Amino acid sequence: MTRIFSGIKPTGHMTLGNYLGALRQWAEKDQHRADSLFCVVDLHALTVDHDPARLRRLSRQGATLLLAAGLDPEVCSVFLQSHVDEHARLSYVMECVASDGEMRRMIQYKEKSVRAQASGQSVRLSLLTYPALMAADILIYGADEVPVGEDQAQHVELTRDLAERFNHRYGHTFVVPRAVLPTVAARVMDLQDPTAKMGKSHAATAGIIYLLDEPDVMAKKIRRAVTDSRADVTYEPEERPGVANLLEILSACTGKEPAALADGYEGSGALKADVAEAVVELLRPLQARHSELCADPGYVDGVLREGAARARAIARPTVDAAYRAIGL
Ligand code: ADP
Repeated sequence: MTRIFSGIKPTGHMTLGNYLGALRQWAEKDQHRADSLFCVVDLHALTVDHDPARLRRLSRQGATLLLAAGLDPEVCSVFLQSHVDEHARLSYVMECVASDGEMRRMIQYKEKSVRAQASGQSVRLSLLTYPALMAADILIYGADEVPVGEDQAQHVELTRDLAERFNHRYGHTFVVPRAVLPTVAARVMDLQDPTAKMGKSHAATAGIIYLLDEPDVMAKKIRRAVTDSRADVTYEPEERPGVANLLEILSACTGKEPAALADGYEGSGALKADVAEAVVELLRPLQARHSELCADPGYVDGVLREGAARARAIARPTVDAAYRAIGL
């Protein structure tokens, strides 16, 4: 049976981008078609400045949101990365397989290190070695497929290279995984800056829809979305990224093509009103389920404990085999 692994970083509150680009697909499709593991990758959140108490809170909230989004612990495993030691164990080995040059070429490293330096923060070494940990995340489970947004595709590509290199040098040990990109909303953009992705770690929050925003807050952010000086509505992603982003969000909510949706609007005001309504309705069940789960913390604890135990049982033999193969 196909095995799927994917994860989400608890570096901020989860966004509509995370839902449309990842969570929804995991819940509606992936968990039912494969043996799947979904994980809050809390170790990855240590690659940038962080506050320990906030991290713990966000990790917990992230796991709860995965369940609220529809991941069913009877069908898939949901857990925290730091509860399974094998991630860190194999990460070091991956650092010994990767080169400094290939890590430095990662777009995410370049962007985030520039951002950290610009705001006067030092760049943690783990930001550079992040893809080694991500490779370990995937390889320890023998995952065939890794559903990710476009922004993570380069890291999965590197994981393939590292797996092939390891297998070639030390004998066949790892399954070589492949990235699976969502067909809709592969990249939800910031409502205030439609040239940047809607990212949960961004400081400016006015253009970001958080999954736990109150409905009227979501609606307000969408009404204030930046478009352009033209009054009509057309789907032209290159020339009109703001309008295109709204159409793509509506498309992800309704299942209709963005270009066909554009034909139904004379002005962006009506489009924004419909996007706001669609997003609020889309997230209503998730928000309700989240509240229920928060009232039952013992249940969430149990799910995470069982998820980690199952994950460990899959990961340990693979990592043991990798250690033996490399000469440890
Ligand atoms: P973030 O960038 O919000 O910190 P993560 O790196 O934790 O997100 O990614 C979690 C998943 O959500 C990944 O599969 C990622 O590709 C997806 N994702 C994150 N932001 C977006 C977005 N704006 N549009 C589509 N998918 C996204």
